[in-house]
Amino acid sequence: MLSYLHSFHAGNFADLQKHAALTLCLEMMQEKSSGIAVFDTHAGSGLYDLTSERARKTAEADAGIQRVWAARSELEPDWRPMLEVLESLNPGADQLRQYPGSPEWLRRHLRSQDSQTVFELHPSESDQLREWAGPGIVRVLREDGLKGLLKQLPPPQPRLLVLVDPSWEVKTDYQEVPATLAKAWKKCRHGVFIVWYPILTSHAHEPMLSALAQSGVRKVLASELMLDSPPGRGMVGSGLLLVNPPWGFAERFQVLMDQVALTLEATLSQRWLVPE
Ligand code: SAM
Repeated sequence: MLSYLHSFHAGNFADLQKHAALTLCLEMMQEKSSGIAVFDTHAGSGLYDLTSERARKTAEADAGIQRVWAARSELEPDWRPMLEVLESLNPGADQLRQYPGSPEWLRRHLRSQDSQTVFELHPSESDQLREWAGPGIVRVLREDGLKGLLKQLPPPQPRLLVLVDPSWEVKTDYQEVPATLAKAWKKCRHGVFIVWYPILTSHAHEPMLSALAQSGVRKVLASELMLDSPPGRGMVGSGLLLVNPPWGFAERFQVLMDQVALTLEATLSQRWLVPE
């Protein structure tokens, strides 16, 4: 039973970290002209309305993207591509209303030589995604994202970017994500993989990081953003793993995340979980 709906959380501090990594990574990969196959294994919706009843119920964007948007004039140049997308969706706005989900962040950057495939299992989310995609270039598949990804590899394009962003409501995700990454990496060793995970007080993510570290996969960057004053329950931090990030990504991403940490009152740590 799928109960998670990302509309309650869109634009929160974890989305900021994940979407900043996704945007910077894709931009850096696109400095070369060869085509990229992009996969989003757990897609959610194309666009979120931050004024909707669901978004207002948690108001998570107020402590996330809205704070960064208010500080936009002070941000580093690598924020520009993200700010331009937000500006085009919310022209002249002081408060954002429209916030893109990962499928829209990716589609905005797609070139004719790239492809985009998104997986979404939730019936109403995948119906909405199909509507959002229309007859255009994005392929929407209503199937399990981890199994589906393995079926699609290796892709026809010479390069690969994968976002793995489960809701972690099924506890087996903590075993299946590192196992799938190891299999996908064996099929496509040059692929770039981004995995988001929640940091909970239970530290449920730690065995998952150990499993990945022992899987043989090389060059894994870990970025963690810990809230200085977390709410009483739920997430206390947000984590990202990046397998094979482009050369120079770690330094540029650290600068972006340092600014987020300062703006959102959080503490950043970034390290190589597995070196090259
Ligand atoms: N990636 C989105 C973003 O950054 O905007 C957010 C995705 S949300 C965290 C996770 C999504 O995965 C939910 O929409 C959920 O319905 C979907 N989902 C859950 N299990 C899945 C599975 N096995 N395969 C594909 N999608 C799944």
